[in-house]
Amino acid sequence: MGPVTALLASFSLLFTGGIAQTPVHAAGSLRPPINHRWIPYGHKRKSEMAAYARRHYGTRSNVLHPRVLVEHWTQSTTASPVFDEFRSDTPDIELHELPGLCSHFIVDTNGRIYQLVPLGVMCRHTVGLNDRAIGVENVGMSDSGVMNNTAQRTATVRLARFLRCRFKIQVRDIIGHSESLRSRFHHERVRSLRGQTHDDMQRATMNRFRAMVARTSCG
Ligand SMILES: [Zn+2]
Repeated sequence: MGPVTALLASFSLLFTGGIAQTPVHAAGSLRPPINHRWIPYGHKRKSEMAAYARRHYGTRSNVLHPRVLVEHWTQSTTASPVFDEFRSDTPDIELHELPGLCSHFIVDTNGRIYQLVPLGVMCRHTVGLNDRAIGVENVGMSDSGVMNNTAQRTATVRLARFLRCRFKIQVRDIIGHSESLRSRFHHERVRSLRGQTHDDMQRATMNRFRAMVARTSCG
C-alpha cells in the first residue's frame, strides 16, 4: 500500500467504525496503533446527543466536525471503570443529563490507545466544546502522572499528532480540559454552564504537550 492509499485506508477506518480487532498500523503514516473497543452508540444515544446539541449549541445534530482536541485524565488508575461508565449511557452525576459521558479515545497507562466512538459523532466530555472537539481520556490521577509516564505520554502525543494532521486541527486548538473556557471555539447556550470547566490538563502541562506535538510536521 502506498502512503496515500494507506492514509486513506486508516482515515476511512476511523470514520466507518471498522471492526478490526487488532491494531492497524499503516507504515509510513503518522497513525499510531489504535485498538477499537466500540461503545454502544445506537439510535437512542444519537437522538440524545442531537437533543443535547440543540439545548447547548442550537444545532440539532450529533455530527462532529472536529476543530479542537481536548486532553483529559480519568481520575482513575485503570481504564475499566471508564469503559463501564462511557458504555452505560446514563445521566452523569454532575450535570444529570443525557447522553452519558464519553470520549472518542482512551489512552491507557501502558500506552495502548483505544477508540470508543467513530470520529463523525459527538461525545460529551467538555462543556462548551462537544460539538467541535475530539475527546482523549488519559488513564491517570494527575497531569504529572500522565506526562511522567513515558509510554503513555508518547502514545497520547502521537495520537494528537495524527488527529491534528488528519483534521487540520491547529496546534493551539489542542487543549487541556482546564483550558476549555479560553478556547476560541467555546460556546454554550445554557447560561449557568458558561463558566463550567474542570481542572485536568493545565495550561503549563499543555504548553509542554503542544510543543511536543508541534515538533512533527504533517507533510
Ligand atoms: Zn476532563
